[in-house]
Amino acid sequence: MEILKVEHVSKVYGEGPTAVKALDDISFSVNKGEFVAIIGPSGSGKSTLMKCIMGFSNIDNGEIWIFDSLNKNALKDVACSIEYPPLYPDLNGLDHFKLISQLNNINEQQMNNYIEFSGLKERLKKKTKYYSVGMKQMLILSLVIMQKPRLLILDEPFNGLDLQTKKRVIDELENLNKQGTTILWSSHEIN
Ligand code: ADP
Repeated sequence: MEILKVEHVSKVYGEGPTAVKALDDISFSVNKGEFVAIIGPSGSGKSTLMKCIMGFSNIDNGEIWIFDSLNKNALKDVACSIEYPPLYPDLNGLDHFKLISQLNNINEQQMNNYIEFSGLKERLKKKTKYYSVGMKQMLILSLVIMQKPRLLILDEPFNGLDLQTKKRVIDELENLNKQGTTILWSSHEIN
């Protein structure tokens, strides 16, 4: 079953001589249960493609289908982190865990498991505006994985993470994928 279908999608930023063609006739599909990476150098359009899939950015041509639907209501079963981790700067880490848990009916035991996974247990009372890049990345990754969405979209999820943490995140993503979440992620590193 196709979870995501991108058909002949094009996207241009701006107009006239300074226009930038970020996406040029892109087509691909992702099937249920796949764990797909989009690899390309910086500026090749990875974030733009993800923003277009999520509806954060309009496309100029083509169609994007999620769960066999052109309707953006399908996005309620999709979790994402694109470009900069989308966090509330004046809320602390624990506020984020509680908010996402309440919105998704996640019980305290499950929430605590992901607090443990985040490695941020001692720093949960700190506002996220004082977090390092790696801390922000681990918070957002924990929050999106905790939701166990049908489709997870991650833009450069390993930015700012040390080798050991990267390995822990990969294991957790593989685990989530085995439980049925389809994953689309991007990287500028082929390794
Ligand atoms: P990647 O994620 O692969 O680094 P991006 O999708 O961020 O690539 O960028 C693709 C191209 O679109 C680049 O040339 C970038 O400069 C341009 N671009 C991205 N966002 C904007 C924007 N908001 N306005 C104008 N150009 C943009």
